[in-house]
Amino acid sequence: MSHPILQKVQTFLEKAGRQKVKISDDLIEEFGEACKSAIRKQFTDERGGKFRLRMSNIEASAMLILKASGVEVQSEQKSVTHSGEIEGTYDVEIDNKIWDIKSASPFAFDKKFSQGFNTVIEDDAFGYASQGFMYADSEDKDFGGWIVINKSTGEWCITETPLNIDEYKEKYVVAAKDNFNSIKKNKKFKRCFTDVDEYFRKAKTGNRVLGLTCSYCPYKKKCWGDEIEYLPQQQSQARDPKWVWYTKITNPRVETYD
Ligand code: SF4
Repeated sequence: MSHPILQKVQTFLEKAGRQKVKISDDLIEEFGEACKSAIRKQFTDERGGKFRLRMSNIEASAMLILKASGVEVQSEQKSVTHSGEIEGTYDVEIDNKIWDIKSASPFAFDKKFSQGFNTVIEDDAFGYASQGFMYADSEDKDFGGWIVINKSTGEWCITETPLNIDEYKEKYVVAAKDNFNSIKKNKKFKRCFTDVDEYFRKAKTGNRVLGLTCSYCPYKKKCWGDEIEYLPQQQSQARDPKWVWYTKITNPRVETYD
């Protein structure tokens, strides 16, 4: 059975697809302000100032839909501090739990968030779990999980934390503090993944490529440097080949001319 938050959202969206639905003027105004703020942040804000994450337009739409669906939002976009020094802003508090709203690629939506909590933490290179548990712990509340929207299809899913979360809470809050201390002490950055051999038609090509997590990572250029190249698969003769992040090319494409 789906989560009560998801049930409310799906009922609302389904109804909105069939007929007019009521959305209060206050909610529409609030949504407009959130979108303006997201656009300013994206395009016009000074880059040198203190960095603060704000909602994307998809996340702002998600807040509007949650509220219009009748989900009781207790607080949102609240700045918190953990251990007196780790600062952040959580997305939303529902049912006395802190939730993170994420817009996800179709791949991450299907293969990660829709598969449940254990799949997300199995391969959590971006520290989603640490972030969620730490924000919740700052407020002395439980972390509920992720409310996720598929960027392409607009589908929703809820990736809920397990009922007994104490062991996860402890583990991920400690991990967040360790990361923070490493950054504070300016410790040398250590990559969390290596590159991998490239295969084409089940045979090694001799080239090296980024693994799946790195290829989706927003920090890959910073992490791997400017030498990584996003190119069509080098051995493919397809008219529309797959594009791949290469770290090392020893077997480049051979151009053929008619
Ligand atoms: S690109 Fe770097 S930071 Fe990103 S997942 Fe890969 S190793 Fe980690």
